[in-house]
Amino acid sequence: MLPTVQPRIGVLALQGDFALHRKTLARLGAPSVEVRKASGLPGLDGLIIPGGESSTMLKLLKEEDFFDPILDFHRAGGALYGTCAGAILLASEVENPAQDSFGLLDVRIRRNGYGRQIDSHLGEIPCPALGEPPLPLVMIRGPVITAVGPDVRVLASWRGHAALVQQGRVLASTFHPELTEDTRVHAWFLREVAGSGTNSRGNR
Ligand code: GLN
Repeated sequence: MLPTVQPRIGVLALQGDFALHRKTLARLGAPSVEVRKASGLPGLDGLIIPGGESSTMLKLLKEEDFFDPILDFHRAGGALYGTCAGAILLASEVENPAQDSFGLLDVRIRRNGYGRQIDSHLGEIPCPALGEPPLPLVMIRGPVITAVGPDVRVLASWRGHAALVQQGRVLASTFHPELTEDTRVHAWFLREVAGSGTNSRGNR
């Protein structure tokens, strides 16, 4: 059998918990790089947009002329995975309050929809696509997905709302798998979203 070629993944490192995503990828044997500028995107198969503060990240992305290059990266076939604030940035519509976003994932998302910092919580979230046992869930001032478009696959739901969703080469979770020991969501991103590395973007 041929050895699996891992996709090349960047983690957006402007703000938020990017280091833990790299740690999770490393546990899966996937090398990754921190991406701070648009010049870090060429050659990558996927980009993870971490949790943090979506409004701050948005401001930094615009100041650094880094917003449109991420759209171009995706248009050229690049995979994206956003956790929490990252999911907010990917959504087609943001509320509470409304803010600009990439619009690459056909969901409406409500910032801080599960409540304030004090309402942050742990749990276990069933995810049939990823098998048993349920995924450990860490929710930190997470957003609530309040509407899901027809092309969005709901992989897991929490308290009646989609919480892990995929639309083609875009994956998003309102919770934080990188804060747990469970690597299955990242493994899914590597395998099912960013491709097997077999020339999935034709740019090797
Ligand atoms: N509440 C944050 C926001 O609206 C997201 C929190 C997180 O990423 N853990 O951007």
